[in-house]
Amino acid sequence: MIAVSKLKPLNDIIALNRPPHNHIDFGENYLQELQQKAELFAKLPSSAQEGSATETQSQSTSITERIRWHFIGALQTNKCKPLARDVQDLWCVSSVDSSKKADELEKGRRELAEKGGDSVPKLNIHIQVNTSGEDSKSGVEPSDTAALCQHVREKCPHLHLLGLMTIGAIARSQASTTSETVNEDFEKLVEVRNSVVKELGVEEDSLELSMGMSADFEAAIAAGSGEVRVGSQLFGERPARGDAKVKEDVEESKS
Ligand SMILES: *Cc1c(COP(=O)(O)O)cnc(C)c1O
Repeated sequence: MIAVSKLKPLNDIIALNRPPHNHIDFGENYLQELQQKAELFAKLPSSAQEGSATETQSQSTSITERIRWHFIGALQTNKCKPLARDVQDLWCVSSVDSSKKADELEKGRRELAEKGGDSVPKLNIHIQVNTSGEDSKSGVEPSDTAALCQHVREKCPHLHLLGLMTIGAIARSQASTTSETVNEDFEKLVEVRNSVVKELGVEEDSLELSMGMSADFEAAIAAGSGEVRVGSQLFGERPARGDAKVKEDVEESKS
């Protein structure tokens, strides 16, 4: 499960990262917000350093493990390079829907690898598929998905193709809250995956599916999702983008 923390303060993330939850996978939609959170989080004392700290109370800001950040938001081509190069502990970009964006991510990751040597892991990605056919939705067309997957595998040595992702139609998502109802977007993504693995000649389970959000994660799991992205169900309603604050709560908790 990706805990989708966009527009929520860093303190909400810290609360879920600490024992007893120890959650490490968090999803964000906006580059600047992600960069701020990743930087602030990385500066917090880690649990490994806790023994030397003078504080004994659970008040300490110690964290359990490093976070694996997931970028799940709409991806702009000009943001791809800084995203792949500059965000600390970025684990996966789940919204790649063109070869141009893949190439820019590849460039950013390559620059990072040239500085960091062997210690820089490949950047995981999902190809986002437009399963609902709505013009407003980002994502590559189902029929173009195999070619894009092929492009990433052959032309982007610093990226690792994890699987396919879809958001799907909001109406279907809201209608489908149980594991019994069938959601056409989820069925479509399964179908696309099956044809992609055939075309690429790889094992079916070598491409995972990222589908399902607060309203429909049960149906998504029933349909074969390997990763759900849950936000409001975990953290509550999100504030408007203009009202969102990364740091407010952190400052308060120090005083
Ligand atoms: C915001 C967001 C989510 C989480 O949505 P909730 O309905 O709050 O669970 C999941 N996936 C993507 C791509 C999102 O942008």
